[in-house]
Amino acid sequence: MKKCPECNSVIYGRADKKFCSDMCRNSHNNKLNSSSNNLIRNINNKLKRNRRILEEICHSDKTKTPKNYLFEKGFDFNVMTGSRKNPKGAVYHFVYDYGYLELENDFYLIVKDNRYK
Ligand SMILES: [Zn+2]
Repeated sequence: MKKCPECNSVIYGRADKKFCSDMCRNSHNNKLNSSSNNLIRNINNKLKRNRRILEEICHSDKTKTPKNYLFEKGFDFNVMTGSRKNPKGAVYHFVYDYGYLELENDFYLIVKDNRYK
């Protein structure tokens, strides 16, 4: 006996039926979509904020900034769009067209990747 995951009532009909009704199927799928949409929206917002912070700091091709300044601005080090190693083996993390590299003494090097011009 199969039960509807949305309303918990018994499902009658075809064996492959997953929900008791179209209404339950729709509301179930809407919930799934809205939670994954929220997650994506939250990460996108963090990425946008990170990029805006880097853009505000980096007026030329590269600049140095203290780590604390990034924290104060609300920079989130957990979200990025990619990372790249330079020939010396240092790893740049990228947020779209801006990259950052951890330096000594809690400083960061911020670079603008001009390949995306
Ligand atoms: Zn149902």
